[in-house]
Amino acid sequence: MTESPLKITVLGCSGSYASAGGACTGFLIQSPKANVWLDAGPGTLANLQEYLDLSDLTAIVLSHEHADHWLELPVVYNAIRHYVLCDPIPVYGTHGTLSLARSMCESIEESFACEVVKDKDSLHIGDQFWQWSRTQHYVETLACRVNVANSSFLFTADTGPEWDVKSLGEDVNLVISESTFLSDREGEEILHLSARQAGLLASNANADKLVLSHLAPGEDETAHLNEARSVFDGPISLASVGKHYVV
Ligand SMILES: [Zn+2]
Repeated sequence: MTESPLKITVLGCSGSYASAGGACTGFLIQSPKANVWLDAGPGTLANLQEYLDLSDLTAIVLSHEHADHWLELPVVYNAIRHYVLCDPIPVYGTHGTLSLARSMCESIEESFACEVVKDKDSLHIGDQFWQWSRTQHYVETLACRVNVANSSFLFTADTGPEWDVKSLGEDVNLVISESTFLSDREGEEILHLSARQAGLLASNANADKLVLSHLAPGEDETAHLNEARSVFDGPISLASVGKHYVV
């Protein structure tokens, strides 16, 4: 937990598969009364433990069932069941994600208290107010917004360009957006965002700050920043493991 209203730490940000020494998608969302692990991509468990013990987690939130966003969960299941021995941790995720999790963890309730969330749902996790919106992606995928007092954070999860970020409201302090490729691939109709589209999304949300994440392997980081800057006026940076943002 943290004295700041909201502190977001990058546990992993590689798109599709982890880069050398990196990890797939995951963030630690901390506030004065909650520690929430948002997306448990492969590699993020090791990084999470740099900041807190598993027994100090308030909840885990999973955006969707693609492997690079949740597959650390069955490993956490083993850790809690056999070693950490804390009370079951609440896990919020889509129906598809939790079904897959159950199929890989034979007595899942020993480690997790699973609850399905869906489009337009909202709930309090400690002092954090969470809202979800279904994006445009190949499987049911939930973007989320977290508000604590006057601080707000929005995560796009994975999405194509047709998702309306305003479904989670406007005037957000920090947007972490996926930025999988560059605008020269927009015509391929892949259900991910280009850096340009990530910038437009942040602009539409009237965001103060934008962080680009989920770059596909081998992408040109400078080109991603430049494209997003061409359409968004606020500060823009690239996610990297260990970086944190206070809002
Ligand atoms: Zn995906």
